[in-house]
Amino acid sequence: MNKELILWISIIIAIIYLAILYMKGIKKKKMILNTIIAVIFVLLVNLIKIPLLSNANNEEKDEEVTTTITTKTTTTATTTTLLVTENPTTTKKITTTTKAKTTKITTTTVESTEAPDYTGTTSKGYKIETKNGITYIDGYLIANKTYSLPKSYNPGSLTSTTKSAASEMFDAFIAEKGVKMWAQSGFRSYDTQKSIYERYVNRDGQKAADRYSARPGHSEHQSGLAFDVCVTGYACISSGFNDTMPAQWLSENAHKYGFILRYPKGKEEITGYKHESWHFRYVGKELAEKLYNDGNWITMEEYFGIDSKYQ
Ligand SMILES: [Zn+2]
Repeated sequence: MNKELILWISIIIAIIYLAILYMKGIKKKKMILNTIIAVIFVLLVNLIKIPLLSNANNEEKDEEVTTTITTKTTTTATTTTLLVTENPTTTKKITTTTKAKTTKITTTTVESTEAPDYTGTTSKGYKIETKNGITYIDGYLIANKTYSLPKSYNPGSLTSTTKSAASEMFDAFIAEKGVKMWAQSGFRSYDTQKSIYERYVNRDGQKAADRYSARPGHSEHQSGLAFDVCVTGYACISSGFNDTMPAQWLSENAHKYGFILRYPKGKEEITGYKHESWHFRYVGKELAEKLYNDGNWITMEEYFGIDSKYQ
């Protein structure tokens, strides 16, 4: 029963009561007294019963919502149950609440969904395969704005191959130039990338941040195959490193150790990122030699015939 129904029933009862008394030809003084009694009756019924009823409704409401969360019952199913037990006004309210909760669940599910399946062939005829949410093109792991890594993909550090190739390269540089070179930033988990990216978006806005920082799941750092280099006495992970002696050395020698200059100058439209003279990606000597292209670096995107664009 709803509030309005109780109100009308109590008023009708009061009117019938007074009508009976009137028809019986009751005295005017007694009639006034009975009218007051009838009004008090109506007030009491509505003041006492209604709060009790609304409490009962609220409890039921909470139960229904809880059920929706735990069992992920569809909104339609919940609405049907409520229509049987509740009046139309209350049902409407409850349905809205349930729908809101259901939407929340759906959103969470979408966020935790693994990387989509990109299986197919590139525009240059290379095979695209997705294994456990990780995309490989011609056997090479790919992470850019188009191809993402699943949130769960977490090698924990640079891969052992990447580490040993990097230390070989750093040793060669140190031996030749007498200055220390190291990987300042290597592996980054999905969550670390998420907080880094969000910090840049808050600072510079999303459009600017997207030119130099990857969205979570789209960073090559999550692969454990890429790192950012720093050299003693030089700007570290910033455009001040571009065109310096160590940047030139890396551009000329990285391929010999299996690394590629992942974001070459003038390729922002292709890679989706500004030139980064400090970011290197392990691909192995064979592919690195091809992408080095006698000093005129070509990108993975150009070589394989793929895009790097957010959907
Ligand atoms: Zn980097």
